[in-house]
Parts: sequence; structure tokens; C-alpha cells
Amino acid sequence: MARYTEATCRLCRREGMKLFLKGDRCYTDKCAFTRRAYAPGQHGQSRKKLSNYGLQLREKQKAKRIYGVLEKQFRTYYEKADKQRGITGENLLRLLEMRLDNVAFRLGYGASRTEARQLVTHGHFLVNGSKVDIPSYKVSVDDVITVCDSSKATEKFKVFAENPKTLPKWLSASPENFEGKIVAEPAREDIDVPVNETLIVELYSK
Ligand code: SF4
Repeated sequence: MARYTEATCRLCRREGMKLFLKGDRCYTDKCAFTRRAYAPGQHGQSRKKLSNYGLQLREKQKAKRIYGVLEKQFRTYYEKADKQRGITGENLLRLLEMRLDNVAFRLGYGASRTEARQLVTHGHFLVNGSKVDIPSYKVSVDDVITVCDSSKATEKFKVFAENPKTLPKWLSASPENFEGKIVAEPAREDIDVPVNETLIVELYSK
């Protein structure tokens, strides 16, 4: 399974905003973007006006980085979104939101999508009673996500259960039972990522 393995904070600095990729560290003074809010590299501090293409490219890179998806897989998501009914950009974001690693993150399992993804790959979750360890697994409405019995007793999961997150409208949860449910597909207004999906569609439809 391919994943991005280089310096994570460079990605925030490149995109010119905090992408919250490192969990708790992102909320401290140690955040690299807080300390150096300019692009990495020799010319990082020189301001360049981006072309239309540059804006579209940056928006796509930002979305990929937020969800931790590499180029080929992101393109596949776009192609699927384009074939679906409705607005392609919104379909794209919906597909990304409904990845199991993102759902685990939304349910409060992990301080970042990266951590949630690791929990998925380590086999801590069941979907409708069956173990699923594929981060890109697409959940569906009415799916129930639970934590494996052996993981519920661990300190890490106890802390998650004691600190429930505010959920988006399309999810419900019972933290004390280590359970979450997909109650609807997410609408665009339920997806709080700072991405202009229209620019991504413009980029890919050239
Ligand atoms: Fe981005 Fe978090 Fe690193 Fe700050 S600490 S630069 S928000 S990944």
C-alpha cells in the first residue's frame, strides 16, 4: 500500500495553510507552519502570483494531502466521481470522505487522518462485524463501524472513548460502545475541508 513518506510539515508550508496532518502537534507552538509560514526551499519566501493552472494544481495537491491519497488513486477517485450523477467535485469529496480511514478519524479514532489510517491498517476495526484493514475501503449508508473486542481494552481506545469528537451530521456514534454508524451520505456542507473542488475538476477536465 503506497503512502507519502516525506516530511509532512513541508506539505502545509507548500500549501500555505495548516492541513493538520500531525494531530496534537498541529495545535502547539511546535507547528512548523506557525514558525515558518512560507513555502519550503530556497525561494519559499518570494511571493509568486499563481497562474490559473497553478491555482488548480495547488487545490488538487491540497485535497490529496489532506486525505493522504497519492496521485494515481486520487485520479481514480476523480474518474469515479465523474461517472456518478450530480456535481463531479462534490462526488469527489464524498468519495474521499467515505473512506474508512477518514470515517475512523471523524469518529474520533486518531488525532489525525494519518493516525486513523494506521489504526485501520493494524486491524482495529470491524465494518458490520467483519474485520477491515484497508484504509481506502468505502463505507456505505447504514454500515456500522466498531472497534475489535481486543482493542477496546487498550489505553489508547479508552482515551478515544472518553474524549468523543463533535460528529458531522452524516455520522452517529456511541463512544462508550466503541461504535459508529453511517446515517447518510455526506452533503457538501457537511465536509469541512478547505478545498475548492471546482478547481480540481477544471484541472482534470482539460
Ligand atoms: Fe501542518 Fe501539523 Fe506540521 Fe503544523 S504541525 S505544519 S499543521 S502537519
